[in-house]
Amino acid sequence: MTAANSLNKIIYADNAATTKIDDDALALMTDLQKNFFANPSATYRLSRPLKKILRESREKIAACINAEPKEIIFTSGGTESDNWAIKSAVLAHLNECPNIITSAIEHKAILNSCAAMENLGCSVTKLPVDKFGTVNPNDLQKKILLQTKIVSVMLANNEVGTIQPVKSLAEIAHASGKIFHTDAVQAVGHIPIDVKLLGVDMLSASAHKFNAPKGIGFLYVRDGLKISPYIDGGSQEFSRRAGTENVPAIAAMALALEKNCRDINQTAEKLSACAKILLECLQSNGVDFILNGGENRLPGHLSLSFKDCDGESLMHRLDLKNICVATGSACNSQQTKISHVLQALKVPQDYIRGTIRITFGKENSYDDAKTIGNHLVKIFPPCQNQQFLIR
Ligand code: PLP
Repeated sequence: MTAANSLNKIIYADNAATTKIDDDALALMTDLQKNFFANPSATYRLSRPLKKILRESREKIAACINAEPKEIIFTSGGTESDNWAIKSAVLAHLNECPNIITSAIEHKAILNSCAAMENLGCSVTKLPVDKFGTVNPNDLQKKILLQTKIVSVMLANNEVGTIQPVKSLAEIAHASGKIFHTDAVQAVGHIPIDVKLLGVDMLSASAHKFNAPKGIGFLYVRDGLKISPYIDGGSQEFSRRAGTENVPAIAAMALALEKNCRDINQTAEKLSACAKILLECLQSNGVDFILNGGENRLPGHLSLSFKDCDGESLMHRLDLKNICVATGSACNSQQTKISHVLQALKVPQDYIRGTIRITFGKENSYDDAKTIGNHLVKIFPPCQNQQFLIR
C-alpha cells in the first residue's frame, strides 16, 4: 500500500500539531525547487524571477495581516521567531538585569527562550491565567517593572485554543513604553489578524500550521522597531536574518496563507460545526467530560478531559481505529508529565490525566467528527451523573 493510500483511511485531527500542505502550495514549491534553483542574491537572468517571487511573497504575506512588506522577515518557523523576539529585546541590556513578562501557558519556544535569558541574569514574570486560560490585563498592569523590556503573550494557545485579549495587553505594555510580542503560531491563517488593530510590535508565525511547508515562517517586526540580527552572516532579509532564502518554501507559504485567509470565515464555520457535532455526540450519549479553554477558542479546537482515565491510552485506542489526535496531558509525545497549560488552568485532578486534544482542519469532514464522537462513546459508557462543563 502506498503512503497516499494508507493516508486515505486515516482521520487526521491533530491540526494544531501540523497541517497537510495545500495541493497548490506543494505544486508551486515543487516547480520552483526543480526549475528555479538559482540563488536569489545573484544578478544574472536566472535569479531575476526569484527576486520577484521573493518580493511578491512578502507583499502577499504582509497583506494577509495588514502589515507592510518591509515588516515581514522570513525565518525557519515559529521557534526561531519566538527565540528572536525574546532574545533581541533583552540581550543588549544584560547589564541592566532586564525583566521579561510572559504568560504561564506559553509554548516551550517562548518559555525556554525566557529560561535561557534567566540563566544570563534576566528575571522572568509569568502571568497567571483563569480557568479558561485567559490572561487578565489588570495582572499585566500590576507586574510591569522599570526593568521590563518585553511583554510576550500568545494570541492563541496551542493546547486549549484560548484566544487572549492581545489588543488590551499591547495597549498596557505600550502605555509603559514596553515592547509587545505575540506568538501567533496557532492563529495566523485561522482567525483574522490585523497587526495594526492588535497594536503588536512583533508577531511570530509558522507556515506548517496553515497548510504550508515545514521549516519556514516569519516574524513581523513593526516598522521603526530596532531589533538586532539573530543569525549573523550575509545581507539577506534587510541584513537582519542571514542565509540564502528558501524561495520555494517562502512562495508556498505565501500562497497557502493567501488561500487560507481568503476562505477564513467559511473554514472557521465548518471547523466550529465539526466541533459542535462531536460535542453533541458525547453529550447526547451521556459521556462525562470537561471541555477546556472557554468559549473564546480557535475554531475546531477541542481539549477534552475525561474522568479517571489516561489520555495517552485514549490516544492509542483512537490510533488503533485510524484516528490521529494528540494527548493533552503530556508536554509532548515523549514526556508523560502533566502539561503546564492544564495545570495553570487548574483542570480538576481526576480529569487532568484523561485529556486529549482534537483539532479539526480544513481537510476534515462532518463525518470525521461523527466517527470520532462515536468511537469515544464506545470507549466511555454513559455516566449516571454526567457532567459537561465548559471550563
Ligand atoms: N508556538 C506555538 C504556540 C506553537 O504551537 C508552536 C508549534 O507547535 C511553536 C511556537 C513552534 O513552531 P515551529 O514548529 O514552527 O517551530
